[in-house]
Amino acid sequence: MSSSTDRPRGIRTRLVTAGRNPDEQFGFINTPVYRGSTVLYPTMDALVHRKARYTYGTKGTPTIASLESAWTDLTGAAGTIIVPSGLAAVTIALMATVKAGDHVLVTDSVYQPTRHFCDTVLKRMGVEVDYFDPLIGAGIATLMRDNTTVVFTETPGSQTFEVQDVPAIAEVAHSRGAVVLLDNTWATPLFYPPHARGADIAIEAGTKYLGGHSDLLIGLVSANERWWPALRATFDAFGACAGPEDTFLALRGLRTMQLRLKEAERQALDLAAWLQTRPEVKWVLHPALPSCPGHEIWKRDFLGSSGVFSIVLQPASQKAVAAMLDGLELFGMGYSWGGFESLIIPFDCRGYRTASEWNPGGPCLRLQVGLEDLDDLKADLAEGFARLKAAD
Ligand SMILES: *Cc1c(COP(=O)(O)O)cnc(C)c1O
Repeated sequence: MSSSTDRPRGIRTRLVTAGRNPDEQFGFINTPVYRGSTVLYPTMDALVHRKARYTYGTKGTPTIASLESAWTDLTGAAGTIIVPSGLAAVTIALMATVKAGDHVLVTDSVYQPTRHFCDTVLKRMGVEVDYFDPLIGAGIATLMRDNTTVVFTETPGSQTFEVQDVPAIAEVAHSRGAVVLLDNTWATPLFYPPHARGADIAIEAGTKYLGGHSDLLIGLVSANERWWPALRATFDAFGACAGPEDTFLALRGLRTMQLRLKEAERQALDLAAWLQTRPEVKWVLHPALPSCPGHEIWKRDFLGSSGVFSIVLQPASQKAVAAMLDGLELFGMGYSWGGFESLIIPFDCRGYRTASEWNPGGPCLRLQVGLEDLDDLKADLAEGFARLKAAD
């Protein structure tokens, strides 16, 4: 979107204006919640030839259209679909791009439910799936086969935070006629413009930073010109439309997403730096720190870092880690992230990785840093470290 003088507008202005059309809503600022299945047509001719802006509830409403057009603007895509969860965004993007007999390459650091879908549903449909080392870059050429049609990337990796060289992977994939999918949930389009970096199709779990308040589930998939028709056709075939209330809440979240992300970035960088100084912590996996695998690529390609990162503790028993986590007062234990509250989970991906070694040499924890006071968060963790030591 640009102003009347064609000067490109800044991201904050675009977040405020994108997908809004007060003239069509009696002047009210926000597009309201449209609920509905049936859309009435004025004449038989209009009905038979679907001559209407909205044709049926599953195909879109003004609420959905507002979010679609805003996301298309922010991602620099040709079009966007909105689905009921981030996982649905992953699976519909894959269903739009694979067919029986295809070979698919997926990053070994992928969000685990994505791996589950590939290993179960895709395999059952006759699609071969191989995983690749997230740091492979242009080396992916050695894994490409004649029937490799999809390369699925996620940067940084879920839990382990390896930063991928998506431009290098995309160059190889495109030269072989394969489509590049990117799960861009961690950075969002504000910190990583997915299509400009080479992704044909970009996935966002809007459940995280777009929603921002741990109270909704939504997924968004954007595509470039080449892949938009296939993505939209697959979405229409599935009928997996997002709920009106969740779409409305996502639109509300969009207006403040940049402020919340910048604050999450600031809080997480401060906490990560503090954790680096702690004797209990062996390794901090935060893309903006040199200790993170792929940090140089983060510096080259990203516009910021969000509020989720991992740490590896010095060797400790499971009982000691439980003593640390069970007593935390501010860091809640639970999945998902991107809300206003801090979270922590233990993880261990040694059991399922197939293409790359993951032997960090100590218990691993993933942190989501919320908006609490940093001194309080540090005190909560410091008390946890004391329990860890006492229990070991
Ligand atoms: C959370 C997440 C998803 C799934 O989102 P849901 O809305 O919880 O289904 C997909 N990809 C990544 C990277 C995620 O972190």
